[in-house]
Amino acid sequence: MQRKFMLSDQDIPEKWYNIIADMPNKPLPPLHPGTLEPIGPEALAPLFPMELIKQEVSTEKWIEIPDEVRHLYSLWRPTPLYRAYNFERMLDTPAKIYYKYEGTSPSGSHKPNTAVPQAYYNKQEGIKKITTETGAGQWGSALSFACNHFGIECEVFMVKLSYEHKPYRKVMMNTWGATVHASPSTTTEIGKKILAEDPHTTGSLGIAISEAVERAATNDDTKYALGSVLNHVKLHQTVIGLEAIRQMEMAGDMPDVVIAPFGGGSNFSGLALPFLRLNFDEGRNIRCIASEPSSCPKLTRGQFRYDFGDTGGMTPLLPMYTLGHDFVPAPIHAGGLRYHGAGVIVSQLLRDKLIEARAHDNVEVFEAGVQFARAEGIIPAPEATHGIATVIAEAERCKREGRSEVILFNLCGHGNFDMKAYQDYFDGKIVRHEVTEAEIKASLARLQTPTIP
Ligand SMILES: *Cc1c(COP(=O)(O)O)cnc(C)c1O
Repeated sequence: MQRKFMLSDQDIPEKWYNIIADMPNKPLPPLHPGTLEPIGPEALAPLFPMELIKQEVSTEKWIEIPDEVRHLYSLWRPTPLYRAYNFERMLDTPAKIYYKYEGTSPSGSHKPNTAVPQAYYNKQEGIKKITTETGAGQWGSALSFACNHFGIECEVFMVKLSYEHKPYRKVMMNTWGATVHASPSTTTEIGKKILAEDPHTTGSLGIAISEAVERAATNDDTKYALGSVLNHVKLHQTVIGLEAIRQMEMAGDMPDVVIAPFGGGSNFSGLALPFLRLNFDEGRNIRCIASEPSSCPKLTRGQFRYDFGDTGGMTPLLPMYTLGHDFVPAPIHAGGLRYHGAGVIVSQLLRDKLIEARAHDNVEVFEAGVQFARAEGIIPAPEATHGIATVIAEAERCKREGRSEVILFNLCGHGNFDMKAYQDYFDGKIVRHEVTEAEIKASLARLQTPTIP
């Protein structure tokens, strides 16, 4: 009875997998918000280094991982893949449950998989400083770690709610030398404007993005980095799934169902896209399910149309499932899942019914997270508990149907900095919350961006 499946340093993938090469319908182009004309990659040049822009629009199926990036990956990669025997027993299911554990990275989640190459390519192009936003603090931590390694300055706009809930995430970023502001802040024009309208706002990822973009756009030696949503971020995360395929082979199993939590789509893509490749190339029929909170349900209840990536409306228009760029979700603890939209690649895949999505209530996910911690020991990040809720639902289905399917999920981070969230759950302060149809309709009705027939 083997419990964990380990690879060694030499097994770190040499190439990232770019699913755009294999997609039956390629993503629609981003549009200029003024002219509504498709924009070319050069429009992104003020914000990102050229190499990342090339990756953003690449149609090459495999993209080489630089040696220096693989070398830093080897601090924590390859990550372990476990068979969750105890959890299976607790759920009394005939399903076999496996999980890929990304919480072994220095910052405790999958985020450094893209922070490291992003810092690397900025360094290659002589950039001195990178700005970014962070929701739960995971991305800010990951980028702080990566920037510190490559000797780049890092400035982080942290959603105010998380800044208050998770003070130690800020200290972690400071330890790696980064500067951190609670967002909205008074250091940017958009931050000042939003504070003037609503001084008590808890902030949102969309607002923090606007602040970080403004800072980068107004300083020459400064670029911006995004921890999710964009194509190159999803590309970098595919190391997760590429490793997992080899580990599942070691285990002598292949998943019937692959599950991951969903904020903007990076950890979901990281695990799922390499398995979707097996569907494309080998005719397999692996189901991939993205799990989101029912308080921010863009995949299950949003609209597929053009929208801004940020609240301030500074980004190009992107074709995606969205709840509207000024949608401010309830202040749930899964900060990384409070984003109004879904990445372009994943949106197109969902539109084409090549992937599925589920939404779970706030209380249900904490029940799932605590159950998992009591079975397997690892305390999941609040984001990861959404995937676990889907795993439980699938394991129960397997039981009802008497099927011993293989389920693989992404335990994309540990929750060791999220004790406030668990405390609130134990104190009965976490309440069921679902956005109403009227709220979603009202938010979408405010959009003046193009719809997609
Ligand atoms: C950031 C984060 C998420 C959500 O972002 P994705 O891009 O959808 O992966 C989920 N889980 C954890 C642990 C995170 O840090």
